[in-house]
Amino acid sequence: MDLHGKLQAAWGHIISTYKPGTIELTGVILTQVIGFIIPATLYILIDTIFPKFSRRHKIQDARRQPTRQQVLHCVKVTLFNHVWVVALPGLLIWFTGLDHATMNLDPTVPPWTDFIIDFVFGLLAREVSFYYIHRALHHPSIYVYIHKMHHKYVTPVAFAAEYAHPVEHILANVLPITLPLYLKGAHSLSIMGFVVFELWEAAADHSGYDFLKLPPAELHDLHHEKFRVNYGTIGLMDWIHGTDVVGWDRPKKVKKVKIAE
Ligand SMILES: [Zn+2]
Ligand SMILES: [Zn+2]
Repeated sequence: MDLHGKLQAAWGHIISTYKPGTIELTGVILTQVIGFIIPATLYILIDTIFPKFSRRHKIQDARRQPTRQQVLHCVKVTLFNHVWVVALPGLLIWFTGLDHATMNLDPTVPPWTDFIIDFVFGLLAREVSFYYIHRALHHPSIYVYIHKMHHKYVTPVAFAAEYAHPVEHILANVLPITLPLYLKGAHSLSIMGFVVFELWEAAADHSGYDFLKLPPAELHDLHHEKFRVNYGTIGLMDWIHGTDVVGWDRPKKVKKVKIAE
């Protein structure tokens, strides 16, 4: 049996054995654990288990790294964010009953081409939505109330990806990676696979390490370091708007002085 056949057999067994609400809630919990909590923990442990390797691959200077206490604080807040994001669909399922699910739990696993189309659609939809939401969060009249919290870590660690105000966590972290595929009516396996990828990508983006990341983690790391640059995730929207260069928003006069130096 090929891989698709094995996946179909396993999915068919799950669908015929468990109630829709149970499958959906288990899926939400597993995506959080597999996509974020395990990778983010491994990134943090690299520092302790392989200190030489860690120093060699850290993007920013070792002297700028957060203290152990700051990292622990970040882990606590981020884990709390993950708990309430799981608790929300949990409550919804509690009220509607386990016989209902909000996601598409079609017993037939879609062909690989559907997974690829969903992945590309999800990636582009996330890039566009995250870019504009993130730029709006940087607006001076909003920034201090919401997004300032996420920028506490100038030298980020993986858990800092979800270290955010609750409003930002929903608007910028949860909705851009779930809502587009959900509205498209994508199969729940496609949504869960995409969310696992995006959560790992967010952890890698904030890991502070220069390996295992496409596009490179340097893009978002630079956003934390320099603030007004690289608002998107894959670089596309920043390239279109010219916000991929530090100093894009400075007056031309200042730029000329810099060139003359
Ligand atoms: Zn920002
Ligand atoms: Zn960030």
